[in-house]
Amino acid sequence: MHTESTDTTNGAAADLPADLFAYALAGTEGIPSYADLMDKLRQPSYRAQQLAQWLWVRAAARYDDMTNLPADVRTQLAQMAVFQRAVIADVQHSRDGTRKYLLRFADGICAETVALPQRGYETSDGSARLTVCVSAQAGCTLACSFCATGRSGFSRNLLPGEIAEQVRVVAADYGHRVSNVVVMGQGEPFLNYDATLAGLRIINAANAAGGLGIGARHITLSTAGIISGIKRLAAEPQQFTLAVSLHSAVQATRDRLMPGLQGQPLAELNAALQAYYQQTKRRPSLEYALIAGVNDSTAEIAALAQFARSCSSGGAHVNLIPLNASATDDALLDLQPTNAATAARIAETLRSSKVEVSIRASRGSDIAAACGQLAQQHTG
Ligand code: SAH
Repeated sequence: MHTESTDTTNGAAADLPADLFAYALAGTEGIPSYADLMDKLRQPSYRAQQLAQWLWVRAAARYDDMTNLPADVRTQLAQMAVFQRAVIADVQHSRDGTRKYLLRFADGICAETVALPQRGYETSDGSARLTVCVSAQAGCTLACSFCATGRSGFSRNLLPGEIAEQVRVVAADYGHRVSNVVVMGQGEPFLNYDATLAGLRIINAANAAGGLGIGARHITLSTAGIISGIKRLAAEPQQFTLAVSLHSAVQATRDRLMPGLQGQPLAELNAALQAYYQQTKRRPSLEYALIAGVNDSTAEIAALAQFARSCSSGGAHVNLIPLNASATDDALLDLQPTNAATAARIAETLRSSKVEVSIRASRGSDIAAACGQLAQQHTG
């Protein structure tokens, strides 16, 4: 006879995590599921779906709200796993409708989330776009020279439920359906791959399955260029969109701007993107923050065009981002944005060399919510 503590054959390991946000819908390698939790309690599998629905669709605030779960199951759940919603520790409203949230999780660690509503959403019929920019980590380990997040340190990886929770909090705060999700907040999603994918599956799954019901094609992951993650994403069943923060297609320049990416060379990145396209038939996009005198020269732009064209047969779409000022500029190298006229000329050059390009409008910079401005706050 085997005891509970050694019985892992039914999928419910003895040492299940003690935070409900560590769990996810079934189907992510290395991440325990709500079904594992119910299994452990010897409950039928439909209870896992009920639990997920209370978490993500019906917005329960505590186990006792989950009235279709038997009282003794609720009691046992409370003993096994903490269930604590994220608290809005701070929210800032931008003139352009953008809101930046500082969310505090059960252990006091905080992460930032940005909501970007389509202009005029207040008076629309509810069909207006509302994009949520979620963080995958509290802080970041990569320390890119132009980004505020890395310079203020790394606290920890976020849990799957903490990633999905960011979307739920924004939907509730705006009282509006979230239409798009971009994993472009703090942190590097591919250095927290399993939890990020598990979080995105919660965001993507239909309401009936206990998810937030946002279409995979409306969900974008942005990576600084972690090649193993690109390879893994290519094999995922969901059609999530991939963006890569390139910032230079010249190895020496990129090494200087993104020193945390040693070991992820451009040639391998390019090959991984080609393979990604072959496998998925989805074109990746490339993000490129224009920095005066650093990555905006004729030679740099020619290298960018070459890189973008060779990513896939249709090429990669290039998103030019005007470099945003960093909130904690003192420690930053003296990096300045390329001026608007030069940026427009660069876009034209790229177009004439058959690269599809757009210039990303910066949003929320008055509240330090724009790309690269999310500094890690150590509160709690
Ligand atoms: N680690 C992932 C997810 C972060 S996304 C990644 O690097 O893709 C945040 C985006 O903002 C990235 O494209 C990043 O390169 C960009 N960014 C960082 N600092 C910036 C700045 N000062 N101005 C403009 N974009 C910046």
